[in-house]
Amino acid sequence: MEYRELGRTGEKVSVIGMGCWGLGLSRDKREWIREIATLQRGIELGMNLIDTAERYSSGRSEELVGEAVKDCRDDVFIATKVAPPNLHYDAVIRACKDSIKRLGVSYIDLYQIHWPDPGVPIEDTMSAMEKLVQDGLVRYIGVSNFSASETDAARAALAKNEIASNQVEYALTNRSVEGDILPYCVGEKITLIAYSPLAHGHITRSITGDILQKYDMTPAQAMLNWVTRNEQVVAIPKAGNIRHQEENASSIGVRFSAADYERISSG
Ligand code: NAP
Repeated sequence: MEYRELGRTGEKVSVIGMGCWGLGLSRDKREWIREIATLQRGIELGMNLIDTAERYSSGRSEELVGEAVKDCRDDVFIATKVAPPNLHYDAVIRACKDSIKRLGVSYIDLYQIHWPDPGVPIEDTMSAMEKLVQDGLVRYIGVSNFSASETDAARAALAKNEIASNQVEYALTNRSVEGDILPYCVGEKITLIAYSPLAHGHITRSITGDILQKYDMTPAQAMLNWVTRNEQVVAIPKAGNIRHQEENASSIGVRFSAADYERISSG
């Protein structure tokens, strides 16, 4: 596994992390056991970045992440999210404590605002985020689904801390962030965490067989390799089973030549 610095934090996170949307959605506890084992296999393979949210499966995703990391808490980097309508000061503090409880940990590595809410002053949310950092409940602050100008406003609302990351949708089949969010992140040294990097499982057929053969990759591996080409990007695919987790973990051992990267990009 390769690692990249998250923002300017000095922390190393895996270039391929693990998305946890949908974990715990099933009521079948055997399914939960499989989901925990899939996460643990990823951790064994060096995938230290784990992304969840208070919203996912009404908190059960966080509970399953907590179960998966209970014997290796310090080896992983847990990212979770606070969602509207919890962006007012008191609600942020409460939501964070609830997430910490469900995760069964004493701190969250990266606490992200899940979506911007123009109805709540960003200063209100950010002062709560800084209080959480000051109290040792959160290590770093991130945003998600923020435009470049919304990220600017969030940074301006912080007195002591920086925005480490912006989590946005980015895949070979959805490149809209290349317009202004990616250049902004690169310029400001903010990590772009690419969500849905496998296009929600709609694996593209646009990458030709000769390229896949040359690099010995599956189409899903090629998508992950492509999306993490830029040094400022890490990706958080969601694998539902150990085979997919292993495939995703071994997607970045080699890199496409510049010419092949261009061919893939132009589809
Ligand atoms: P994704 O990672 O793009 O795609 C997941 C799908 O890809 C699943 O159907 C999975 O199937 C399949 N898959 C995984 N590995 C594969 C492989 N090696 N070969 C073939 N298929 C494979 O979609 P996502 O879950 O939407 O996004 C990933 C994560 O991003 C989420 O879990 C969440 O943490 C985050 N996210 C954040 C936001 C936000 O607003 N911040 C929004 C959406 C997602 P199996 O289940 O069969 O493995």
